[in-house]
Formats: sequence, C-alpha cells, structure tokens
Amino acid sequence: MTAHITHFINGSFWSGTAERHGEVFNPATGEVTGQVDFASLAVVDEAVSAAKAAFDSWHKTSLSRRSQVLFAFRELLNARKGDVAALITAEHGKVLSDALGEVTRGLEVVEFACGIPHLLKGGYSESVSTGVDVYSIRQPLGVVGIISPFNFPAMVPMWFFPIAIAAGNAVVIKPSEKDPSAINLVAQLWKEAGLPDGVFNVLHGDKVAVDGLLEHPDVKAISFVGSTAIARYIYETGTKFGKRVQALGGAKNHMVVLPDADLDLAADAAINAGFGSAGERCMAISALVAVEPVADELISKIQDRMGKLTTGDGTRGCDMGPLVTRVHRDKVTSYVEAGVDQGATLVVDGRNPQVDGAPGGFWLGPTLFDNVTASMSIYRDEIFGPVLSVLRVKTYEAAVELVNDHPYGNGTAIFTNDGGAARRYQNEIQVGMVGINVPIPVPMAYYSFGGWKSSLFGDSHAHGMEGVHFFTRGKVVTSRWLDPSHGGLNLGFPQNV
Ligand code: NAD
Repeated sequence: MTAHITHFINGSFWSGTAERHGEVFNPATGEVTGQVDFASLAVVDEAVSAAKAAFDSWHKTSLSRRSQVLFAFRELLNARKGDVAALITAEHGKVLSDALGEVTRGLEVVEFACGIPHLLKGGYSESVSTGVDVYSIRQPLGVVGIISPFNFPAMVPMWFFPIAIAAGNAVVIKPSEKDPSAINLVAQLWKEAGLPDGVFNVLHGDKVAVDGLLEHPDVKAISFVGSTAIARYIYETGTKFGKRVQALGGAKNHMVVLPDADLDLAADAAINAGFGSAGERCMAISALVAVEPVADELISKIQDRMGKLTTGDGTRGCDMGPLVTRVHRDKVTSYVEAGVDQGATLVVDGRNPQVDGAPGGFWLGPTLFDNVTASMSIYRDEIFGPVLSVLRVKTYEAAVELVNDHPYGNGTAIFTNDGGAARRYQNEIQVGMVGINVPIPVPMAYYSFGGWKSSLFGDSHAHGMEGVHFFTRGKVVTSRWLDPSHGGLNLGFPQNV
C-alpha cells in the first residue's frame, strides 16, 4: 500500500482533494511507496493566508516565549531524530547513519536559534546629541518561503526555518517532491513543541507551488536551495516580485592535493567526500586535482579503498546507498559514458555494481576517472553522483587557475602539510567555503553557509548572523524625551550639539 502525503497548513494536515500528484519511490527497491499531493495556486494561497494570520500574533510574542518553543522543539527533534532519519533513508536512499548525520547538523541550527534573544540584540548610544539617544532594532519580515532540494530533506530546510521562526516570521516551506515525508514529521514536532498553528506550513508540489510563492504579494522573502538553473530563475523572479531572495545553487567542488600532503589522509578524504551519500551532496568532492608527482600513488591508494566499499540498501549498514530516482541514475550513467567517449581513463567502473539490495533499486557504484581535462563534460558539469574525476596538474598555480576558472564556487579543499601554501590557497581561491585538510568544510551553525559565483544568487549566505539578518529588517530609532530647555523652531538640518 502506498502512503498518501499531503500539505500541513495551519496546524493540520490538509483535508482537500488534490488534482495532481507525484510518485515517491523507495530508491533501494525501485517501488512506489507514496503519492504526494501537488499544491494548486488556491492551496498556495491557503497556506500563505494561514501564515500571514499567524504572523500577526507570533511576531508580538515575547522573545522568552519564542525561545522556549525553540528549546521544546530541539528536545523533541533530538528525541525523534531516528524516526526523521528513517523517513529520509526510505525516500532518499542515503544510508541511515548519513541520514542521522544530516538531522544532527540541522539540530545545530535549532540550537543556534535558541539564542535568539541574544542574536536580535541591537545597539544603543546614549546622548548622541544633547538629550538624544539612538538605538537599533531588528524586526521580522512576515511570511517567508523556503524551497528545498531532494538531497538534504531535513538539514537544508533547517538551515533556514529555525532562525526565521525564532526571529518572529511565519514560514511556508515547499520541500522536494522526491522525498517529502521527513518535513511532515518535523511539522508535527513543531506543533507538539507549542508553536502556534500557521507559523510553520508545508506545501508539497512542483513548479506551480514554487511560482505561487514567488509571485504571492504576502510572501516577503524566499530562501531557495537547488540546482543552478532553477536558483537563477528563483532569484530573477523573486526579486522581480519585490522579494528578498537568497538562492543557493549547484557545485563542482575541487580537492587539491599538494606533493607534500599525507596521501593516506587525502585518499580517505577523497573517498568519504566523493562517494558519501552517493555523491548527492552539494559539498561532495567531484574533482580531485593532483599536483604532480602525486597522482599515480594517490590514485592507487584511492583504488584500494574503493575495492572495499559496499553499495546497497541504506538500512543494511552499507557504505553507499542508491541514487534518488531511476531518471537521475540514468543521467549520471550517461556522464560515465560521456567521460569514456571524451577520452578520460575509466579506472573504476561503477556501472553494474554488486549490491546488497533489491535488483530494482537505482544503483550505480563508485566510479573513478583519471586523466580528466578541463574541457570534458564530466568536469564542466555538476554530475551529482558517485563519480570522482582526477585532473593532473604540474604546479600549485595551475591548480588554483583550474579552480578559479570553474563557474561554480561552493566548496573546496586543499591537502598539504605546508601552512604557508594553505594560507596562500585560502587567500587566492574564489570559493565560498574552504577546507584545509578537511574535505567537506560545511560551516558550523554560528558561521554562514554559501558559495560564490554560480553557486549562489543574492547576497546572504545561510544561517549564522547572515541568516539572522536575512530574516529581519533593521530599524534605527532616534529619541528625545521632553526637556523644556530644547524646544523652539529650527528649520536647519539636524546637527549634533
Ligand atoms: P532542483 O533544482 O531540481 O529542485 C530544487 C527545488 O526546486 C525543489 O523543491 C523542486 O521542486 C523545485 N523545482 C524544480 N524545478 C523547478 C522549476 N522548473 N521551477 C520552479 N521550481 C522548481 O534540485 P534538486 O535536484 O532537488 O537538488 C540537487 C541540486 O541542489 C544540486 O544542484 C545541488 O548542488 C543543489 N544543492 C545546493 C546546495 C547549496 O548549498 N549550494 C545544497 C544542497 C543542494
């Protein structure tokens, strides 16, 4: 029997009948396990109206009450993180330990948002002029929309909504239609935590729901994460409709290995960051830049390790699960074929892998290419699968030029034992997040997450203080309390005396 997955609006699951649906799969078996309702424009309006009504009282709720709700939500999510992770594995396919890892990283943002009374503190200057004080405050925006990708069904939404809600906004989230169930459980936990109905709403669907949010006059801001083509569209459309927009796009993350690096550490990192979550991570390493003469030794170490990796059903303790859909698996496979056609050396072929799982699953094993060049499509495009490409360069300078010439600038890592080289790299590289001997440099919640170039449209990165600023507007108040000695007419521009 397939599950029926529907919207969560104004504190309850939607009771209407949807005209359009999407199929949800278990990627480890290939079977359809759910039918998800797709929102019409009328349903978008229902969700936004509920959020708008809830915002009216939520933003007036005291900071201490708001942070109490955040703390209660944190406790409930922590207690139920295993259930959220199981839903992720069932619909996304990533292995259970990895699903638990993403919920834990999301929890860190909830913990950060629990400190909202401190985060919203403004400045105060006494006596800027005689008898005049100035202070700054930050206020919420209203209804904010969040549109998230399939690859982190819990963590990516949690980059945004804990801070948005703590700051006093009301949220309408449109998760990926490929793995919609985890966020519905999260919605129930918010309700249990005491969040008033309508402050957190879930809208399932496709482009219709997204466009409905982008064009709705009562939606004041959009946080989007997904592929670059859609991120660009979201940014252009959202700003055209007068909204504040942050749109995080795709990636091609380079790992540069210098000749003095610890090659065992580098080989472990390349495997973990290249094939974890079947390469379906925006911070996955997909291009390994070996500065000669390290390539042969490094590739041999990586190849040894790849021989030990297991691929299979994410509930069975394997290293790597299936890809999210058959269509996506076939697209990634077509890149492997293109790599061969374009002359790269296929060192490990992941097509037809041995798997611990059902034959109908969307399988593709870890794949390694050598002698990849900058003009090949396996290097230019984001593949978003378990395909690692090795590019050989002669010098550090050539490595930096390669990375900086690439249109994406999400994450990068350098492996070296030379502090001076690492420091130079962090300074010269045109990428938003840099790891030094760390392969997936995802910043902690109290720093901000975001790339450069085609990996981010808009100004603000996610979470940290940039997240607090994105979900609030600044206001500066200049005040004077009546003092009879300062009355009188003066038509000149105010000056401080
Ligand atoms: P996607 O762009 O296909 O979908 C993202 C969201 O946009 C989904 O909710 C989807 O329903 C919606 N959408 C899809 N097509 C649309 C259209 N034509 N109009 C309006 N909305 C549309 O991305 P995905 O395949 O779900 O996720 C993978 C992508 O996300 C990769 O490119 C990955 O790099 C990127 N990603 C980036 C980051 C980051 O921080 N930069 C993080 C995670 C994922």
